Amino acid sequence: MKFSLRPVNVSSTSILAGDQGWVDLSRHLRLAATKRKVIILADHNSATHCLPFLYEYIPALMGAQLLEIAPGETAKTLANAAILWEELLRSKADRDSLMICLGGGVVTDLGGFVAAGFQRGIEVIHIPTTLLGMVDAAIGGKTAVNLNSTKNQIGHFYHPTRVLIHAGFLRTLPKVHLESGSVEMAKNIILGDPVTWKKLKGLGPGRLVHDLLSDSAWKKWIIPAVRAKVNIVNADPQEKKKRKALNFGHTVGHALESLMISQEREPLLHGVAVAAGMACAARISTARAGLSDEDLIDILVFLKTNAPGVTFTDNDIHDLLGFIKSDKKGSGGVAMFSLLREPGCPKVNVACTREEIVETLRWYQQHFLSGS
Ligand code: NAD
Repeated sequence: MKFSLRPVNVSSTSILAGDQGWVDLSRHLRLAATKRKVIILADHNSATHCLPFLYEYIPALMGAQLLEIAPGETAKTLANAAILWEELLRSKADRDSLMICLGGGVVTDLGGFVAAGFQRGIEVIHIPTTLLGMVDAAIGGKTAVNLNSTKNQIGHFYHPTRVLIHAGFLRTLPKVHLESGSVEMAKNIILGDPVTWKKLKGLGPGRLVHDLLSDSAWKKWIIPAVRAKVNIVNADPQEKKKRKALNFGHTVGHALESLMISQEREPLLHGVAVAAGMACAARISTARAGLSDEDLIDILVFLKTNAPGVTFTDNDIHDLLGFIKSDKKGSGGVAMFSLLREPGCPKVNVACTREEIVETLRWYQQHFLSGS
């Protein structure tokens, strides 16, 4: 006997920015408010800096239940998810309830995970308050918690119904987080929008941060980066093939993050690690995907201008190889890279040898960090 189920229906997300976003959300909540419980999940910093704006724009939200977590990556645990689920039960949330995640990638990853699991899924809306959240973490429906020290091991694809982008939240974001987010923003643009990349790559030092904080110029960079990611996710929502392009820079980037954690060194900001990974992936792309030297140089100049380098020793290279081999993007212990043929044209699932990776890491150490 043969049964078939209807394929999983990937629900759609409305991505809204600027004033139109607030009007839409306000209308949505007005429709919902009479009968639905609304929960806001925030961390301490987003509650301090962003919640007052949310209340100002939509005063009805002052009546919502506020759940607050500690800031930082260490909050993304199953234990915290369980605490939040218990809190939802205690406060009589039900399947009609709506969760609004107000915060960076930690809040939207954890909140999305909690919303997906509570009574088999309640509606979730993301209001990202970091640049990384706006261009990456809140877009695409990936939710996750970490398992012990291994990042993002447990999670679902669970799409928010709305993502509201309000660049004004970036004004209180520490500069290091703005820089870290700008790397992922550039990555999306390099992968999916060569026209915007041409403009972005030429920005001088400090110019990008200035633009991101200005009243209107943020639209030039944030919206194209969001569009580029949306186009890639729409082509492959479950990351079977095309969506793997978004892992550009992440094979080496995640290995560097794991190295720092394993050595109990100062954790790397995600974007800083990905910047080093993008430099390595771009270098490998010249040999394995036909990326031109000119495009390589453009990418390196952008990364050097907008993110600090990552220092590691010759001895660390052995450990980095171990992390790269066990990366969840690999296959059967073989390191798989997402590369670039040219801006706007990624190449996924490229198996790289140990020798290629070692040579690239040494190149990064010698040439990228020396400033040449
Ligand atoms: P984060 O959420 O830890 O935020 C960074 C810091 O900024 C935190 O201290 C936070 O409290 C603070 N903050 C947030 N908004 C602020 C504001 N407006 N003003 C002042 N301070 C503010 O980090 P992040 O960089 O946003 O996200 C990183 C997380 O995102 C990681 O856990 C990563 O795994 C995840 N991520 C997920 C996806 C995905 O597709 N789901 C993609 C990329 C990254």
